[in-house]
Amino acid sequence: MLRTLGVLLFSAALARGAGLQPAAPQAKPPAPPGLRAGAAAVKITPPMGMPMAGYYYNRGAEGVHDDLMAKALVLEKDGVKAALVACDLASVSRPIVEEARKLIQEQTGIPAERVMISATHAHTGPVLLGRTSRDDMAVGMLDIARKYVANLPGLIADSVRQAHARLEPVRAAAATGREESLAFNRRFFMKDGSVGWNPGKLNPNIVRPAGPIDPDVPVAYFETPDGRPLATCVNYAMHLDTVGGQHFSADYPYTLSTLLARVKTPQMLTLFTMGASGNINHIDVSTKKPQKGHEEAARIGTVLAGEVLKTYTRLSAIEPAALKARSEIVRLPLAEFNPADLTKARQLAALYGKPNAAPFMDLVWAFKLIDVSGREGKPIEAEVQVIALGGDLAWVALPGEIFVELGQAIKQASPFAHTIVTSLANGSIGYVPNRKAYPEGAYEVVSARCAAGSGEMLVEAATRLLKELHK
Ligand SMILES: [Zn+2]
Repeated sequence: MLRTLGVLLFSAALARGAGLQPAAPQAKPPAPPGLRAGAAAVKITPPMGMPMAGYYYNRGAEGVHDDLMAKALVLEKDGVKAALVACDLASVSRPIVEEARKLIQEQTGIPAERVMISATHAHTGPVLLGRTSRDDMAVGMLDIARKYVANLPGLIADSVRQAHARLEPVRAAAATGREESLAFNRRFFMKDGSVGWNPGKLNPNIVRPAGPIDPDVPVAYFETPDGRPLATCVNYAMHLDTVGGQHFSADYPYTLSTLLARVKTPQMLTLFTMGASGNINHIDVSTKKPQKGHEEAARIGTVLAGEVLKTYTRLSAIEPAALKARSEIVRLPLAEFNPADLTKARQLAALYGKPNAAPFMDLVWAFKLIDVSGREGKPIEAEVQVIALGGDLAWVALPGEIFVELGQAIKQASPFAHTIVTSLANGSIGYVPNRKAYPEGAYEVVSARCAAGSGEMLVEAATRLLKELHK
């Protein structure tokens, strides 16, 4: 690098000294060679009293266990930039993503298709307005919620602006760890022939899980040429719903980030994204042991951190030949419903917020029906985005709670050695089961706004974009 610069300066001096050419017009300085990265985190913890997300009843926040953050990693290669943002939230709505991307483009010049904004799916975060009819009803006109949602895109953009301002030369490396003890498929074949959803610990009617888990722990690591850790991207396919209660918390990624920072350096950013885990959670039905609370979140975060630490020893360098991104909108068919059921759905929905007023699954069904019918036949628009670094590392962003089989299908078809599938990115369209799950029914299928085959359409689009970017 120094030698190259020396040669350049020398040739320039020669050219000037010889007086061979008139001075060239001042060109824009070329982008620095090599890969650069910058990382930053901005606090997005809402004020107390803010309604909390993730459940079918209202609860207001009473405290903070650990702060919620918007974490940003900006990459740059040959002047081409991309940003990855992960927010400690249950989901990010499309309007929030669009507004944040607009601000990011204004402040850093990074265009929308190169900005991936995901939610970790932390259930101990705020309810965000506008995602579904249910959320709108939950918070109604609550001023506090409206203010929070109005400010959020600015905070997300600020994380990218700060990361962008810190761009410095880095090298990248990646590897995939394996952790099989934490995640469980939450759908089970039952003795009566049905498929049950979270059927309960030690339920004697369980035959076996109705699907796999994905034990992959993809790790992408960025450090400066002199070995200072800058950022670690970690991905795992398992729901973040281990804490509960009415204190804000980022759930198990909090412990994961804290432990990795303790080992590496407090300044290192751990950017956790949730893999395809629409049907995966942490509940082990083979034991009676309670699995809710901060102890459980800390246990999971610690085990995951251990696997990341093991994976660090197997990292292989990523040759950042180019930074590329592509995104497209896939139009998904709507779930079928009988319009004659709408009256009943509206009656049920009116009971929302009153404890035990209606069975949980009836409410799930009612809100799905109202949302789907409200679209008046208009397909669901789902953005599929791929960001690739060289020929070995790619991030795939999908905007819903994607069944694990679909994420695995993308990884298997991907020409990249390391493919990181991120759920709940760039918006949220709710559950996306695989085709096989639809006739089986149960919670995720009852809740899904998109019809059977939608998940496979996302897999097809993601695979095609991966292949295009790998050329
Ligand atoms: Zn979920």
